[in-house]
Amino acid sequence: MKRRNFIKKASVTGLGLVAASSLISCKEDKEKAVPASTKSAIKPLVIATWKTDLAVETAAKVLEDGGNALDAVEQGCRIEEANEKGQSVGKGGLPDRDGDVTLDACIMDSKGNYGAVLGVKEIKHVISVARKVMEDTPHVMLVGEGAKKFAISKGFEPENLLTEASKKAWEKWKEKSEYKPIINIENHDTIGMLAIDKNGDISGACTTSGLAYKMAGRVGDSPIIGGGLFVDNEVGGASATGLGEEVLKTVGSFLIVELMRQGKSPQEACEEAIGRIVNKPGKNFKDFQVGYIAVNKQGETGAYSIHEWFSYNIYKNKENKNIKSDFYNKA
Ligand code: ASP
Repeated sequence: MKRRNFIKKASVTGLGLVAASSLISCKEDKEKAVPASTKSAIKPLVIATWKTDLAVETAAKVLEDGGNALDAVEQGCRIEEANEKGQSVGKGGLPDRDGDVTLDACIMDSKGNYGAVLGVKEIKHVISVARKVMEDTPHVMLVGEGAKKFAISKGFEPENLLTEASKKAWEKWKEKSEYKPIINIENHDTIGMLAIDKNGDISGACTTSGLAYKMAGRVGDSPIIGGGLFVDNEVGGASATGLGEEVLKTVGSFLIVELMRQGKSPQEACEEAIGRIVNKPGKNFKDFQVGYIAVNKQGETGAYSIHEWFSYNIYKNKENKNIKSDFYNKA
């Protein structure tokens, strides 16, 4: 069967499954579909978008030392936020069209708690600010100036996030002054990370500077629950990278976790989520990239993207590897 048809068929079958599962009682549904948490899982485990070996190694060390999944994903993401060479996360991120670096991040713990910050200027470790929102406020999301003010009140130091290299790239982009936000489909990008700790609990985190040269105020999927990240400790977790508008329109990470709840493997769930994007009538997916990673409660993983170039790092059985994901657009 051709891949395109396969994905179309998978979407239809997926719908059938949803309809069927809603007919059975919640109790039966739970017994049938949710992976039994007593089943032996591969742990500890870390999976993250792109070639993020140092970040994954850092998260894995937290887990191997007995730390929990939440600390692991936070510590892992902080590595990329501090890496000035990565131009799509934290310090050194490419700015918006006005030359401002604005960061988005979110985090989810194994109890289903969520915290996020959107459009934050001058604070590098937004993943840690998102965690503070989750743990120290009655809210789930803080935006812009309010988020920055909150971060400063928690001891985060403001600093200039626009590096010389990113400033130069922005100045070059301005010469053309054409508004076409750039999705970097070939290289390192937003980091989404999922971890399972020694207790088998899952947490996730996602941090980004968003689309390069975006309109001021634009926010993508990365800090939005169910878009760039979703974790349900009973089932698994998923995270996204790529054109956030497309991820959000299909609530991609939530979709993947719900498909896994209904019995799909992480790989099948990622493929169907990409199918939901590319199979929309008239969708010109040639110009943008979306990639997903997922893990279930047993530590089975999956990854899939629209185009080639997407890779992910995975720490499993004490080994950290970068792996190219399978992808849709093979023609
Ligand atoms: N998903 C991010 C966004 O849309 C960008 C990316 O992953 O490149 O903001």
